[in-house]
Amino acid sequence: MNINSIAENIIVINKKIETAVLKVGRRPDEIKLIAVSKTVDVDMINNAIQEKIYDFGENRVQELVRKSDSIKEGYNWHFIGKLQTNKVKTILGRVKLIHSLDRFDLALEIQRRAYEKKIDVEVLVQVNVAEEATKAGIKCEEAFSFVREISELKNIKVMGLMTVAPYADNPEEVRGYFRKLNKIYIDIQQEKIDNINMQYLSMGMSNDFEVAIEEGANMIRIGTAIFGERNYSQK
Ligand SMILES: *Cc1c(COP(=O)(O)O)cnc(C)c1O
Repeated sequence: MNINSIAENIIVINKKIETAVLKVGRRPDEIKLIAVSKTVDVDMINNAIQEKIYDFGENRVQELVRKSDSIKEGYNWHFIGKLQTNKVKTILGRVKLIHSLDRFDLALEIQRRAYEKKIDVEVLVQVNVAEEATKAGIKCEEAFSFVREISELKNIKVMGLMTVAPYADNPEEVRGYFRKLNKIYIDIQQEKIDNINMQYLSMGMSNDFEVAIEEGANMIRIGTAIFGERNYSQK
């Protein structure tokens, strides 16, 4: 993938974002585009930076560390993968947002390390809306009590919810999952729980982001549609 095709891909995505938001009476600037750069090399990330992408998503700690060290400062790194508790200390202070808080022991470790470092850590709670065995995330009916428990951990700021929908050739098939999570997001927002600041609904990937936006997403995580098919052998 060369810089011209990355530029073209981003133009196409921005057009699609615009069409989707207008359909439901929202504004394009409400949507934060995160370029998922897992497996993608640093040159391509720099190409995306030239096209005014500021946010990058990675799902492996070592890869995130290596790339964030190689890219000049001023860009935001998002951790979007399964986070092992023993890796927490490595990423704290490097990442803007952890999208994948999915269990209490992980929250406790984030709290412990954040307190030591005297920082606040912004996270999203990952919800496995479709309850797929292969995917991480809490269940929808656990969302309220989980968020309440996390709200007691003073150095953790819950900023919203995240989900990965099942893959579907026709994204209409997953619209209901996005709608369901948006409802939970709004319900939690309206509870006005202390220390909980529901601002981001992270849902939608290359295959389904338009439907996700129509159902309320304000953060979308796009890899393939920007950088092309991933090659897992060379990262
Ligand atoms: C890989 C990944 C994405 C991006 O997927 P694409 O289909 O390539 O856009 C988004 N979110 C998560 C959690 C991922 O692991």
